[in-house]
Amino acid sequence: MAHSKPVLVSAVKPTGDLHIGNYFGAMRQQVDLFRSGKYKCFIFVADYHALNSVQDAEEMRKRTRELVMAYLAIGLDPKEVVFFKQSDVPAHTELGWIFDTITTMPYLMRAHAFKDAEAKNKEITVGTFNYPMLMAADILLYDAAVVPVGQDQKQHIEIARDTAEKFNRVFRADVFTLPEPYIMPDVAVVPGTDGQKMSKSYGNVIPLFASHDELAKCVMSIVTDSSGERPENVYRIHRLVRSEAELTTIYGSNAGNYKTLKEMLIVDLDRYLAPMRAKYEELQSNPSIVDEILAKGKAEARAISEAKMEKVRKAIGVA
Ligand code: ADP
Repeated sequence: MAHSKPVLVSAVKPTGDLHIGNYFGAMRQQVDLFRSGKYKCFIFVADYHALNSVQDAEEMRKRTRELVMAYLAIGLDPKEVVFFKQSDVPAHTELGWIFDTITTMPYLMRAHAFKDAEAKNKEITVGTFNYPMLMAADILLYDAAVVPVGQDQKQHIEIARDTAEKFNRVFRADVFTLPEPYIMPDVAVVPGTDGQKMSKSYGNVIPLFASHDELAKCVMSIVTDSSGERPENVYRIHRLVRSEAELTTIYGSNAGNYKTLKEMLIVDLDRYLAPMRAKYEELQSNPSIVDEILAKGKAEARAISEAKMEKVRKAIGVA
């Protein structure tokens, strides 16, 4: 299918409990990219990828809805992107299987994710091992020109390129376009309330949609180092929501006064996050909005991917 703009495909995993580290570290930049107007954007909830680790129906449903609501709340415009669930578009798994049949085990064994898991002696699922094939299908179905990823995911785009080339060569057909990685600029790590990287696995997060009272509780629990005048852990979070010039003055005139600085951080964080929280709450009380958006995305993604699959089936000789 010809689009006038280059296609961008992006996946988001339904991991629950989003925190401000996820927002400032990844989600905000993603949404800015979608809004740049430079690309025809497809964004999907990677529920079939998540199935390798989320194996509880209620949890999968809840996380999926929360993720869709979160992206809408932070400014993703469903009119400007095709927003859908991976499991709603069977072509992803169908094409993933076809790619499995032209890919060798030793090739996939060279993938970093697999090697890391193996080095840790983890017992990994076949799905985790095969993950790059499903990801190649996710990307190639839509003729993606660019795929925004972190540096650590670059290899998966190379695998998608190799797979596209191999398919075209084996079946002597020009079906797939080679995607390019779009490496997201490195952003500073957002520290958690204990000063380590904010992460849901460390229990040090400030939830993205926290109420004012929850925010206050999290901020008050930030560990302060009494050796300096400026509480670094407070400052490093503060500078996400207020200019460094203003903060220099504020922190200068309140040197050593940690309680006042924390109270100011609560006010500033709350002011910054309140509009997104309000939108999130509005969506929570209107669940049908999420259903409508996903239904529309499903129809559009199915139409495009089905057209591609007709070419694929013809090329391999099953149609
Ligand atoms: P967690 O560490 O809480 O499990 P994830 O691994 O699910 O977070 O991260 C999802 C996305 O959010 C990734 O792209 C990651 O780079 C970004 N991210 C997570 N935590 C931070 C942080 N503390 N600072 C910057 N970015 C972060």
